[in-house]
Amino acid sequence: MGIKVAKFGGTSLADANQFRKVKNIISSDPERVYIVPSAPGKRDKDDEKITDMLYECHKAAKHGEDYLKIFEKVRKRFDEIVSELGVDIDLSAHYEFIQWQIGEKASPDYVASRGEFLCGMILAKYIGYEYVDAAEVIFFNEKGELNTPRTYEAVRNRLAGCKKAVIPGFYGSKPFGGIKTFSRGGSDISGSVIARAVEADLYENWTDVSGFLMADPRIVKNPKKIELITYRELRELSYMGATVLHEDSIFPVRQAGIPINVRNTNKPEEHGTMIVPDLPAEKRDYLITGIAGKKGFTVIAMEKDKMNMELGFARKVLSVLEEQGISIEHMPTGIDTLCIVVAEKQLGNKLESVIKKIKETAVPTSIEVAKGMALVATVGEGMINHQGIAAKLFASLADSEVNVRMIDQGSSEMNIIVGVEEEDYEKAVAAAYGAFVE
Ligand code: ASP
Repeated sequence: MGIKVAKFGGTSLADANQFRKVKNIISSDPERVYIVPSAPGKRDKDDEKITDMLYECHKAAKHGEDYLKIFEKVRKRFDEIVSELGVDIDLSAHYEFIQWQIGEKASPDYVASRGEFLCGMILAKYIGYEYVDAAEVIFFNEKGELNTPRTYEAVRNRLAGCKKAVIPGFYGSKPFGGIKTFSRGGSDISGSVIARAVEADLYENWTDVSGFLMADPRIVKNPKKIELITYRELRELSYMGATVLHEDSIFPVRQAGIPINVRNTNKPEEHGTMIVPDLPAEKRDYLITGIAGKKGFTVIAMEKDKMNMELGFARKVLSVLEEQGISIEHMPTGIDTLCIVVAEKQLGNKLESVIKKIKETAVPTSIEVAKGMALVATVGEGMINHQGIAAKLFASLADSEVNVRMIDQGSSEMNIIVGVEEEDYEKAVAAAYGAFVE
């Protein structure tokens, strides 16, 4: 029998009814043996997430305000789930302890993590699985990064004798005690880490959408779903803004070649998106996997006569950025030209000093800055073996009257990135989608 690790997100556990769906999903497949829950999320769009409420508790306590009122709401949410499901569990001692800890100014990480801690306890009892506190098996180092060797060993040892378990997501232990969380949405990472540690056959990520779409549905009407995607493609798309999974959740399972299946708790009959290490060419009957993009970039374009002959021009430019702690996104080059694309968030208010420094050290003939740029990435490993992809894309962009300001084809030949003005962003995404999908 194979091993599946199934992570359920906040909306999948938002109330008793969602818990019932989760139980059905788990019991319908005996391979779903390790379950990683988030804390209850929003029941509808005006609702509050448990994690947000817990952060509020922490903040209120820190400012000497009334946190008990907020904690009471957290307690009520959990109690409603417990009583509606008729779970035989008494959480009062935990509530008292957590409440006291908040009053004693416990860290925000500790307070926020209690959502997953309590949710996991209820779920374990409800489905009859053992409860394993994440603090026992997930470890961070002094720098606040995941201590992977220690974590993998602890997970393996702890779960070796435990055939079915619920391990809450989002948090673990600091090296010398105390709780630390991953960044927001981090239960995805916990699930991935557990899957890697137990060498699972599949990491299932259950959420409220049936996987990834080929383009942002706010821009393209009813975009097609992505059935199959490689880790590499996913990395490109998520980096460019397609969000379903936490960006860091890909790495642990990817290293071990464990596929991820993103599925919808509300539509378990749908297969969702399967993320796989590789896709043999004969299995690909499509060229483009998806389109994603982001606004908020600045392009610094430099020209210098005979740049191609000058040793160290790019190095000088890049070292200016490095010295100022600015990381770059792309660097398309021509014979005598070099463009640097930087996220505005990275630049902050350093643009003027960066330009001044570049002029002093690299002495370009001209330097131009274009702010308010957007990038649109068209991604697909199928591009490598096909001709005419770029022609199709640029014809469609031209038909839609999008002015392309920059082009960059990644060296992996699995994406074409175009830079456009922010006001053309939506038009460009729609045009790129229209070029490949009827
Ligand atoms: N509950 C946490 C959050 O809201 C972690 C998670 O859901 O993955 O960020």
